[in-house]
Amino acid sequence: MKAAPFAYVRPATLDDAVAELVRSAGEGKVLAGGQSLVPILAMRLARPSTVVDIGALSELDFVRREGNELVVGALVRQRTLEGHPLAAEVPLLLLALPWIGHRELRSRGTVCGSIAHADPAAELPAVACCLGASLEIAGPAGRRTVAAAEFFHGAMATSVGAEDVLAAVRFPVAGSGEGFGFAEIARRHGDFALAGVATRFRAGDGEAVLTAFGVSDRPVTRDVTGLGDDEVADLARGLVDTAGDTHGSREYRQRLVAALAVRELARARRAAEGGSA
Ligand SMILES: Cc1cc2nc3c(=O)[nH]c(=O)nc-3n(C[C@H](O)[C@H](O)[C@H](O)COP(=O)(O)OP(=O)(O)OC[C@H]3O[C@@H](n4cnc5c(N)ncnc54)[C@H](O)[C@@H]3O)c2cc1C
Repeated sequence: MKAAPFAYVRPATLDDAVAELVRSAGEGKVLAGGQSLVPILAMRLARPSTVVDIGALSELDFVRREGNELVVGALVRQRTLEGHPLAAEVPLLLLALPWIGHRELRSRGTVCGSIAHADPAAELPAVACCLGASLEIAGPAGRRTVAAAEFFHGAMATSVGAEDVLAAVRFPVAGSGEGFGFAEIARRHGDFALAGVATRFRAGDGEAVLTAFGVSDRPVTRDVTGLGDDEVADLARGLVDTAGDTHGSREYRQRLVAALAVRELARARRAAEGGSA
């Protein structure tokens, strides 16, 4: 199928991009890497009046450290971040990025595009939630920052409104004594996860956090500090809030997420305590 007709604009500044979205009165769509939007247009699942290509907004093409945060602008491709020297400051990103589709997709897909798209089975929304990242949104009323815990409203629904651009994501850099784990199960390598987890553990106070994805309409994060393996497994099973589908039953996803949660929390703990991950 071919996309329905739309107007195409490629503004040069973030302000102009927001102005174009305002002009389209809720009928515009941002185009970043196009890896999700273009298929959606081709299948006519979206029929925007205007596609606002943000590819020329060089002001959003940056990866930089600001205090204790790694800030990633909206033009940064997933593959660019994977190879960026500063990415090592957020080890969970380096664990998660290779799971996103295939290298060719990551060469076009952006970090912010994945977060704005908010597929329930996507890796980067889970990373953002597990780390407590924050999202910088530019809209007609100016800029605002939203915590990841409040950002995801449901499947493909976030705090980014129809007249907004997600300008950047701020990931907290890892502190000393922090370790991480990440894994998912998919039907084939490169497919979206049937179930997945991101974990972090802090030596010293033993703080432990689990985020499950692919099991609900958004990533689900729980503090699991002090819980034993059986309690973690029970809690993880309880996070599955999806019915079964042709790829796997609800019970299968419960078993997957319970096993992954226990294993990846142990991995995070080993890494935090200085052992090999
Ligand atoms: C075969 C295939 C396999 C894939 N596998 C995976 C996978 O395993 N895991 C995974 O996470 N993803 C996967 N993807 C999706 C891919 O990672 C996309 O790159 C990503 O979901 C969207 O990023 P993008 O930059 O391409 O955004 P686009 O496709 O350009 O946009 C996606 C949506 O987000 C909105 N958007 C994008 N950027 C912004 C912004 N800065 N501000 C406001 N709105 C914005 C767009 O309007 C659109 O609604 C796969 C895609 C394909 C085609």
